[in-house]
Parts: sequence; structure tokens; C-alpha cells
Amino acid sequence: MLKRSIILGAAALMGSSIVFARNGALMSPAHRAAIVLDTHIDTPALLHVAGWSIMDRHSLSVDGTQVDLPRMQDGGLDGGFFVVFTEQGPRTPAGFAMARDAALIRALEIRDMVARHNKDFELATRADDAETIVKSGKRVVFMSMENGYPIGRDLSLMRTFRALGVTMMGPVHVGNNDLADSSNPDNGPEWYGLSPLGRQWVAEANRLGILIDASHASPEALDDILALSTAPVILSHSSLKSLADNPRNIDDARLRALAAKGGVIQINAVSSHLGVPNSRGRAPARALLGQPVANIAELQAQRAAVLKIERENPAPRANLDLLVAQIRYAVALVGIDHVGLSGDFDGGGGIDGFDEANDYPKVTQRLLAVGFTAEDLRKFWGGNVLRVLREAQARAEPSAVAGPQ
Ligand SMILES: [Zn+2]
Repeated sequence: MLKRSIILGAAALMGSSIVFARNGALMSPAHRAAIVLDTHIDTPALLHVAGWSIMDRHSLSVDGTQVDLPRMQDGGLDGGFFVVFTEQGPRTPAGFAMARDAALIRALEIRDMVARHNKDFELATRADDAETIVKSGKRVVFMSMENGYPIGRDLSLMRTFRALGVTMMGPVHVGNNDLADSSNPDNGPEWYGLSPLGRQWVAEANRLGILIDASHASPEALDDILALSTAPVILSHSSLKSLADNPRNIDDARLRALAAKGGVIQINAVSSHLGVPNSRGRAPARALLGQPVANIAELQAQRAAVLKIERENPAPRANLDLLVAQIRYAVALVGIDHVGLSGDFDGGGGIDGFDEANDYPKVTQRLLAVGFTAEDLRKFWGGNVLRVLREAQARAEPSAVAGPQ
């Protein structure tokens, strides 16, 4: 309610129902009325950077970051799924232990962020928490896991991560692992879908009420997941192969199968997924972005180096036209109940016009202009993902989901 009363107050002051966000984008009543969630926020990768705080306003041009509380407020972004990401590494006992510990630390960093700033953020562990948290005027922090590598070969760790607050998990990232083949394998298919352990992983996710995220899984692994899962499935940040031929993108037949099972695709705002491949000359920039940084000075130096490479290797980027085309194609194919959006911010996402957390109203404006209704936008921005999460959680074994909140 707090959110709405502040908005109404601002609108009354301006004598208009339109509120201008700080970046000049119109924040329409439809945008303000929706619960706006992004299903793939990689910002937790920054939480350990000394001198960088999610509470401060940052600039894309200065430090390259895309999400913080001031920009979330400007963009009417109510929250989303904050990612515990682990890069695929050696599939050895030592590798599994390192990945497990790194993921546990990342999950604790997210919990620590929420605890430190509990007037502005709140951890959500149930789908229905989102509405309550938004009404209290706070930002919604769901936790998700990108890559099942930290699970290694020990499925009992899924219960541990669920107890820490993880509500969505994907089995695999770049490179195959012990659970599944990747859409970007190092050396071709290994399991031709899910591994035998990956099939058990699906059953355990269902039992724990964890929403299964098939982004980054190979097409055959998605087929296996759709065949085995008793709950609907999400693609938390994936786009459409019909419009952009990229191994990360999904074909029409599989999108129909995902929707027929009640699932949702969150179109991903990454240039190469929208049909604008990265310039080859920018490979050094991508390598730089993979380098860890310890403090904000190093982050700013890295950003300056990346911008220099980009100036020297100018290349087109995807834009809102391409993004909206993907959204409209998906809605035409499977209906508004099965489509949403992810920025993949702070994880490689961002296009012209939708490049940081204050840009969400621009997408709403474009969708209103092509005929989306307020009810369509309510589903698109958060209603759909919350429905799918609610269904996954409703199918859990009641005794399996107990744990600290
Ligand atoms: Zn990803």
C-alpha cells in the first residue's frame, strides 16, 4: 500500500497520472500497478566489491553496473531473482567443494545484503511473499541458482540451498556438467539431455518445490525436463530461435511445449540473443569482464578499459525494436500468460534503450504503444512468474520445504 500511496501523492502533486522517472521515461499507471520483477539479476556478483553498495546510485558509464536501489526505484522495479551464479569448473571432488563453498558464500552475501538493508529489501521464499513485500514498500529478493555445479553429485545440497532461500534452480551453465548438457557445450553432447543424476535432480526439485529454470540447458535437456517435471518450468532468461539463431535461444515447438505445461519464458535482453552478434574485436572486453575485481576502483578501471575497447571496435547493439519484436512473437505464439522479461543485468545483458534498472518503464511504454493492456502488463512483469513459482511450490511435499526463512 505504501508504494501506491506514494505514487498517488506524487501524481496529485504533478496534477497528472503520469510520473516521470528520473531518467525521463514515463512511468505509466500500468507500470506502477504491476508487480515488476526481473527473473535474472546478476548483481550479487558485485556484493563483495569493497566500496560498492547496492544502496548507492551508480552509473553504467563510470563503473559498468546496472542495478542498485536508487535505479530500481526510478524504474519501478519491485525486485526479482538475485542470482547465485557459479562458473563451470573441474568436475572433481576438489572442484565440487570449491563450487559448493563459493555458492554458499554468495547465498550468504545476498542474505547479508537483505539483513543490512532490511528497511528497503526483504527476502521472499514463497510466491505470495512478493505482494506483501511490495505493499510494505520494500524490494523483493528471491534467490535463484544459475548452474547446478555447486550441487556436484550430492543432491542433498539442494535442500541446503532451499533452506537458505533459493526458490529457483537451473541445472547447467556454459559447459556440460554432471546433471545436464549445456546449450553451449565445450565438446558437444555428453548425456544427450539430462544425465541419470539430472533426472533425479528434477524429481528432487519437484519434491522441494523448487522452480526449475531451463535457461542454458541444451534443447534435449529441456525436453527431458518437460517430460519429467511434475511442475511448470521457467526459462528465466532466454530468447527465440525463430528471430535470432543462437544456441541459447528456444525454437517454437519447444516454446509451445513449455507453455502447454504451464511454464513461462522470460525474453533475455542480450544483444547476441536478439540477433546482433558481438563484434569479434570486442572479445578482449568480454575477457576483461570475466576478471574478478576486489574494490570499486578496480571496477571503474575495468569499465574504462572496456569502454576504450568498445570505442576502438564500434559495433551495433540490439535495441528496443528487436526486444519488442521478440516479446510480440512469443505472445502471438503461446499467449500473454507465458511471456515475461529479463535484463540479465550485471551478467552481460543490456541493449540500447534497456540498459539499467531505471529503464523498465521504457519497455512498458513500448508495449502499451503496440496494444498491451494493463492486465497484460500485470502478467508480463510479474504475474506469470509468480503463478509458475506458486504452482511449483504448491506441488512440493509439505514436509520437504520446512527450513529457516
Ligand atoms: Zn545466464
